[in-house]
Amino acid sequence: MAHDHSHPPADLTRNQGLVLAALNEAPAPLSAYDILDRLRGDGLRAPLQIYRALDKLVERGLAHRLESLNAFVACADTHCHRKGLIAFAICEGCGKVDEFADAVIEERLGNWAQQTGFKVEQTTMEIRGKCAACLKAA
Ligand SMILES: [Zn+2]
Ligand SMILES: [Zn+2]
Repeated sequence: MAHDHSHPPADLTRNQGLVLAALNEAPAPLSAYDILDRLRGDGLRAPLQIYRALDKLVERGLAHRLESLNAFVACADTHCHRKGLIAFAICEGCGKVDEFADAVIEERLGNWAQQTGFKVEQTTMEIRGKCAACLKAA
């Protein structure tokens, strides 16, 4: 299900707004080319327009890039714009992605970083598997 983000930030450019809306409407992550396909009717033709908009959306925490899929999802939590740990459970059956944060994992990583002297900039976990609905349908 798409999340209802009926109040996107007002200072988005038209392209950023269109890209964010496309991500919000999609049931699964979209690649830049998937987005381009969906927005041709709105006058977007160049991949660069999509990449520019995505860069800004990711920078602002409104969208996330899933490295393992080379695809993008709208942030499931408009208030999450934080630099902490973000985890994604990616279903290989239906393609659905669940975004969540986990304070316990974050704390353990924090302890590890402190002990090893590693400076963490960003942590993104991508967990691959099957969602409950797909398991039930199997
Ligand atoms: Zn998020
Ligand atoms: Zn599934």
